[in-house]
Amino acid sequence: MRTDLSGRTALVTGASSGFGRHFCQLLARSGADVIAAARRTDLLDSLVADIAAEGGKARALRLDVADEAQVVEALSGLETLDIVVNNAGIAGPSRAIDCEGDEWRSIFDVNVNGAFYVSREAARIMRKAGRGGSIINIASITGLRTAHSAAAYAPSKAAVIHMTKSLAMEWARFGVRVNAIAPGYIETDLNREFLLSPAGEDMKKRIPQRRFGEIADLDGPLLLLASDASAYMTGSVLAVDGGHLASPL
Ligand code: NAP
Repeated sequence: MRTDLSGRTALVTGASSGFGRHFCQLLARSGADVIAAARRTDLLDSLVADIAAEGGKARALRLDVADEAQVVEALSGLETLDIVVNNAGIAGPSRAIDCEGDEWRSIFDVNVNGAFYVSREAARIMRKAGRGGSIINIASITGLRTAHSAAAYAPSKAAVIHMTKSLAMEWARFGVRVNAIAPGYIETDLNREFLLSPAGEDMKKRIPQRRFGEIADLDGPLLLLASDASAYMTGSVLAVDGGHLASPL
């Protein structure tokens, strides 16, 4: 496997917690120079210190991905960028009947619009540098099936999956690959309350592997898509869900 990322620069959004924090550590351990982006800079600073203590390279970038001008400004200073992980994401609690416009818009602003702004700015840098690149969008199995109380979240992840394919088609000519990972349920701040509830326990019984995922279950797919090991993959969506999507109707 060609998963050595030495000499590559990797930007991870939503790096202050959960998947994003872990992805930064994983990419740094694989040799990448990591830019850890999110809004909570105190958490980013401690992540950068942890990576440095292990001998890795990382820096923090304060970034609200939903703010287009801020994304343009933040990425304008970068000369090269090889890997982008569009991981920043939020969920909302509502069923469609109760979902007000503010909840719908804020979820699309971060999950879809934010991933688009970051991807577009990254692709401009990658095209100019002429050395291609890999963009990885963190979608969700809810973008491929439906889920209760995910009125805006599930459609936003479906949009991320379709955007992945559209961008892959357009940017293949620049050597920029765009793929998505669709994780199943993995305990983080985003869903801890639900997964630990009786309804979460019921859901676990419907997952063929009978367990929720662990963040480390994403390591293989992330390194595959970030590296030259996936040189002929673009527009793909990798489900990492213990078989949840294949569960019986
Ligand atoms: P998490 O711990 O809540 O992490 C979400 C991250 O997104 C935080 O670091 C947060 O940082 C960042 N973020 C939120 N709004 C942002 C904004 N406007 N600009 C920049 N960063 C922003 O949740 P997680 O579970 O690790 O989620 C990571 C991704 O995986 C999300 O896209 C989520 O939808 C997806 N996912 C998760 C699961 C799961 O089971 N956990 C399953 C499928 C998909 P700041 O607040 O510091 O900005």
